[in-house]
Amino acid sequence: MLGLLWEWHQHERINDANRKASDLNASIRDRSSDVERLQQRVDALVLANLAMWTILRDKLNVTDADLERRVQEIDLSDGELDGKVRVGPWNCTACKRPNAPRHAKCLYCGIERAGTSVFPV
Ligand SMILES: [Zn+2]
Repeated sequence: MLGLLWEWHQHERINDANRKASDLNASIRDRSSDVERLQQRVDALVLANLAMWTILRDKLNVTDADLERRVQEIDLSDGELDGKVRVGPWNCTACKRPNAPRHAKCLYCGIERAGTSVFPV
């Protein structure tokens, strides 16, 4: 009898492991298509940026070196040359308390962030 209970218990554990593996496979498939969609968006943005840059370069008579210098200046604006633009915490204009950059309103008093960027991070 004990052997049967043990076997049933092991069978349940195997079924549970199979269900978890199946759920993980579905999750991996979802993440893969998320990555594929993001890659398509990045590709479209790169193409649009390249088109805009070539129009500006031709109309404003600026060079690729000018663009590279500006990219480096902006990259260094947060103190680190790492190919990223980091936005630090912002201080509420009403209560003066710091808020994380992802918040559009002050967590403490609810006042909307002043001077939001056209390039939200
Ligand atoms: Zn506030």
